[in-house]
Amino acid sequence: MTSTNEIRRSFLEYFGSQGHEVVPSAPLVPYNDPTLMFTNAGMVPFKNVFTGLETRAIPRATSSQKCVRAGGKHNDLDNVGYTARHHTFFEMLGNFSFGDYFKEQAITNAWTLLTKVWGIPAEKLLVTVYHTDEDAAALWRKIAGLSDDKIIRIATKDNFWAMGDDGPCGPCSEIFYDHGAHIPGGPPGSPDEDGDRFIEIWNLVFMQFEQAAGEIVGELPKPSIDTGMGLERIAAVLQGEHDNYDTDTFRALIAASESLTGVKATGEHTASHRVIADHLRSSSFLLADGVLPSNEGRGYVLRRIMRRAMRHAHLLGAKDPLMHRLVGSLVTEMGQAYPELGRAQPLIEEVLQREETRFRQTLSNGLRLLDEASAGLGEGDKLPGETAFRLYDTYGFPYDLTEDALRARGVSVDREGFDAAMAQQKAAARAAWKGSGEAASSEVWFDIAEREGATEFTGYTATSGEGVV
Ligand code: ATP
Ligand code: MG
Ligand code: MG
Ligand code: MG
Repeated sequence: MTSTNEIRRSFLEYFGSQGHEVVPSAPLVPYNDPTLMFTNAGMVPFKNVFTGLETRAIPRATSSQKCVRAGGKHNDLDNVGYTARHHTFFEMLGNFSFGDYFKEQAITNAWTLLTKVWGIPAEKLLVTVYHTDEDAAALWRKIAGLSDDKIIRIATKDNFWAMGDDGPCGPCSEIFYDHGAHIPGGPPGSPDEDGDRFIEIWNLVFMQFEQAAGEIVGELPKPSIDTGMGLERIAAVLQGEHDNYDTDTFRALIAASESLTGVKATGEHTASHRVIADHLRSSSFLLADGVLPSNEGRGYVLRRIMRRAMRHAHLLGAKDPLMHRLVGSLVTEMGQAYPELGRAQPLIEEVLQREETRFRQTLSNGLRLLDEASAGLGEGDKLPGETAFRLYDTYGFPYDLTEDALRARGVSVDREGFDAAMAQQKAAARAAWKGSGEAASSEVWFDIAEREGATEFTGYTATSGEGVV
C-alpha cells in the first residue's frame, strides 16, 4: 500500500521533474490577505503572483498546502464525520503555471500522473468542463481519449473560478473518480450528485480572462494554471478505499482514539471517532501556526472546532480530557512532513488539555439542559432558538455544537430565533448602559463590541476574494 506520505512525495517529485519549483506549505493564517480567515486552497499564497503584483524567478510551482475550510466562503465543518470526503483540515496538492504553460500541458500532466505514474484505470475517471469551454473538451478527447459521455458540461459557477470581483478568472475542469455502482450517488451535474459514488479528486483552473467589477473585460495576456487535488481523497483512491477516513493516516488516528476511549469505531460511534480525528488535525495545525482559542475571529473558529471534538469525546464516554493525549499519534503520522507540528507539540497539548478541562466543567450541565429541552422533539422538529442561545450564553456551546448534538435525531435548530435572542441581549446590554453619564464613550464601546460580535458571527459566512481551488 502506498502511504499518504509517499503519495505527497510522489506528487511533488513528479511536478518537480517537470520544471516546477517545489514550494513548502504556507501557514494556515494567510499573510497576504486580511479578508481571508484561513488558507483554504493551494493558490492562496500565490495570489499576488497571479495578479501580477509579484513575480517569481521560476514561472512554475508545486506544493502541498495546508488548508482549513471551517470558516468563510468554504465551510465544510458540518460535513465532517458524515461524508466520506470532507475534512476541516486537509492538504491540497497543486501545480501552478504563472503565465507559462496552459490548458494542454495542465491536462497532459494531470492525466499522465493519474493513469501512467499512479496507474489509475482510465475507465474509472470522468471530467467536467465549463459548458462554453470547447478547448478543454477537445483536449480531454485528444489527450485522454475520453468519450463525450465522460466529459460532462457544467453551466454553474461551480465550474467557473474567479479571484473576486476584480482580477483573473476562468473556467474549471474537475476530475472525478467513480468508486463504483455499489455506492449511492449520481455523476456530477445529475440530480443525485451529492452522493459519494463519484468523488471529485482534482480541480484544474484555467485562468484566462480578466474581470472588473464582476464582469469579464478581456483576455489575460498570459493565461495561467492553478490546480488543487485533495491528498486525502487521492490517498483513498490509491489505497483502494472509498472513504478518506479509511486511509492510513486516519486509521492510525482513529485507532489511537479507540484505544484511549475503549470504544470501537463502529455503528453510532463512527462519526464521533471521525470528528475527533479530523478536529485533532485542524486544531493542532492551527495552534502550530499561532492561532489560539478566543471568543472572536480565527480563535473563535478554533474554539468551536475544539469544543465539537470534545463533545464527541464526552459522547464516547471519556471521563477525562482526551484530545491532548492524541497529539503524539498525529506527530508520528505527520510530523516529518510538517516539522512545525513537533516543535509546537508541548503548546498544542497544553492548550488542548486546558480547554478540555475547562469545557468539561460545563459540558455535562449544558447537555443535561439540552436533553431536557429537546426531550419531546423528534425527526423534523426544531429546537427553539432561545434554548440554543441559553446554551451558548451560559454553557459556552457554539451554535453549531447544539446543531451537531441534535443532528443524529433529525432535530434542527431555529437559527432565526437564536439570532433574535442574541440581538435582544445586545440591545439589553446597550440599554443598561444608557444614562450612565458616559453616553459618548459607551456608544463607542458598544460600537466596537458590536463589530467584534459581528466578527464572531459572520466569521464563518462572510469573507471575500477567496480562492476556490
Ligand atoms: P467538493 O465539491 O467535493 O466540496 P470543492 O469543489 O469544494 O470540492 P475545490 O475548491 O475545487 O473543492 O478544491 C480542490 C480539491 O481539494 C478538491 O477537488 C478536493 O479534492 C479537495 N477538497 C476540497 N474540499 C475538501 C475538504 N473539505 N476535505 C478534503 N478535501 C477537500
Ligand atoms: Mg466544497
Ligand atoms: Mg466541487
Ligand atoms: Mg472543485
